[in-house]
Formats: sequence, structure tokens, C-alpha cells
Amino acid sequence: MDFDARLAPYAAHSSKSRGRIHIEPPAGSRSEFQRDRDRIIHSTAFRRLEYKTQVFLNHEGDLFRTRLTHSIEVAQIGRTLARSLQLNEDLVEACALAHDLGHTPFGHVGQDVLNECMKDYGGFEHNLQSLRVVDQLEEHYGAFDGLNLTFETREGILKHCSLANARQLGELGHRFMNRCQPSLEAQLTDLADEIAYNNHDIDDGLRSGLLTMAQMEEVELFARHRHTVETQYPGLPGRRALYETIRLMITAMTADLVETSAALIAEAAPQDIDDVRASLPLIRFSPQMRAETTALKRFLYANLYRHFQVNRMRVKASRIVRELFEAFLQDPVLLPKDYQVDGDPMGQARKIADYIAGMTDRYAIREHRRIFSLDHF
Ligand code: MG
Repeated sequence: MDFDARLAPYAAHSSKSRGRIHIEPPAGSRSEFQRDRDRIIHSTAFRRLEYKTQVFLNHEGDLFRTRLTHSIEVAQIGRTLARSLQLNEDLVEACALAHDLGHTPFGHVGQDVLNECMKDYGGFEHNLQSLRVVDQLEEHYGAFDGLNLTFETREGILKHCSLANARQLGELGHRFMNRCQPSLEAQLTDLADEIAYNNHDIDDGLRSGLLTMAQMEEVELFARHRHTVETQYPGLPGRRALYETIRLMITAMTADLVETSAALIAEAAPQDIDDVRASLPLIRFSPQMRAETTALKRFLYANLYRHFQVNRMRVKASRIVRELFEAFLQDPVLLPKDYQVDGDPMGQARKIADYIAGMTDRYAIREHRRIFSLDHF
């Protein structure tokens, strides 16, 4: 079957994939990237995303985004963008669904604390952890550890990487050492992620009451689309007016991205994916949209991500992660047997990081209670 028929020559073609670490026969009725996507959906780490924080703790409300719904929104936006640019939708979907698999419980604070705890043991980075999950930690197959994904999906998962880590990653690390780009599909997934969270965090922020509509009017990108909605539907009730506004914002961002990127691609005229890797980033917002999304991000950072009620969750969560790490490091016998490593302090610390990073929010809270509470034995 020709899976690549509708793709641009510079897209990632399933038939020209750099392949998997462990060689496997072709997937038959599916492209290589469809197979990657299916393996990701069937993974244990993917199911855990349902109970991991995006901004709000899972149990704070049933309607807030979780890492799972966030990843699905990224995949949806990413597929639309990919199709508009004749790029590989299946690869974008696989990268989007896998991009947060290595996230710790409690969102970014979990990763920051774990990184501090691991500073003498090689550090912790959620992006690299996503790769570790798909390369090593998933236990699904008889013949290998991990999911044995294609090079292109693994390349798309690894957005950033320090030079020290890049050196350990073989072929996958080369681009960080040589300052090359990943595929257009990987570049696109990164921006689909940004479009998704910038928009859904407005919705969640307003739903939670931590942001108000009056405050949101300070953000030019929001205010402009909100005004359009008011003109088109005078007196539309709050929630519907909000959704209409967010809908217009997502449309504006995706349209801007497609138009700007199409022009950059036409100018650079890459002949194939290797030309893409050797050129500058080609998937971008226009300078004006970039300025507006930056202003929106700054606003969300100051008013939502650092709201005192979110700070309370962050501080409490950081205490949970730090205390769990310290307790396990001091007494590895507290760990399940598979996580105990004798006579290798570096290996033991890494196993503890894997164990904690794999926890859902509520599992981490329960585990902390089991270990520290004197009322529970
Ligand atoms: Mg994300």
C-alpha cells in the first residue's frame, strides 16, 4: 500500500523511515507511523496521562484538562496543520500523543523538583524521560524493552536536549550537536502543543475562577476575537461566547502558522527531509502572531500559573516529590523489588526518578501518605 501518495516530497515518508532499533517486518495494512501511534495508545504510560496534572490537579474538577486530553487536543490541531501542509499526519499524531509521556505528576513543578533531586545523578528532564519511556521503560513486547518506535517518532518526541545528554543518544542526539532541525512534522507538533495549551488554559483558567473575563481583555489577541464574537452574536451567554472566542483564536493561530510556514517552505524549497533537517526552522508563526502569543503566554504565566491558589498546589506537590525521593534514596528497601538496585548509587537514583515520574498525581499523594503518615500502617 502507498501510504505516502499525498505527501509533499519534503514530508516524512513512511517508506523512507530510518527505521526501528530492533528490525521488524512491515506493519501490513498500517504505515510505520500508524503502528507507532497504535503502540503509544496501547502503552501503560499513555493511560497514566489521564491522572496527571496539566495546570489543575485531576481531582480539582472533572472538566479541567489533564495530560491526556491535552495530548489529544495537540494531536487534533497537529493533524489539521499537517494535512494543510501535505505533511505526514500519522507521524504528527504519534509525536503529539507521545510528547508528554515522561511528565512527572503535578505538572512542571514535579519535573523541576525531580531535576533538583537528581542533580548529582545526571538530572531529570521530562522530554528525555518521554524518550526513555518509549525506548526502555514500557514492558509490552517479548523481543525488546520499550515500544521500538521509528527514528522519526523518537526524533519528534525529543524536543530539547542538553549537549551532555545528546552525546549519549547516538544518531538521535546528532542534531543537537550539529544544530540541525528535526522533521517538519516534529517542528509542527511543537507548535500544535503551544496552540493547544495557550487556548485551553484560558478556558480552564476562567472555569476555575482564577482568571476573570475583565482580566482577559488585557490580552489583545483575546480581546480582538472576543469583540468579533460580540458583534456577530450580541448578548451570547458567557460560556458560549468564550468557546466562540477560543474557536476563533485557534483558527487564527493555525491559519497564520500554515500561511507563514508554507511561504518559508516555498522559499527554502527543500527537496526532501534531509534538506529540511539542514535548513532553518520552517514551521513558524508570523512575527506579529509570535508577538501576540508571547504576550498571551506572559499573561497566563503571571496571572494563572503563578496565581496563589496554584502556588499552594505547587508548593505542596514539590514537598511530596522531594520527600518521596529523599525517603527512597535513604531507604531503597521501601521501593518495590524491581526498583531496587544494589551497589550502584547512580542506577538507584535513576530508578527512583523513573518510579516517581511514572506516578499519577493521586498515586503520588497516596504513596506519600503510606510512607509518612503515622495514622496509616
Ligand atoms: Mg504538551
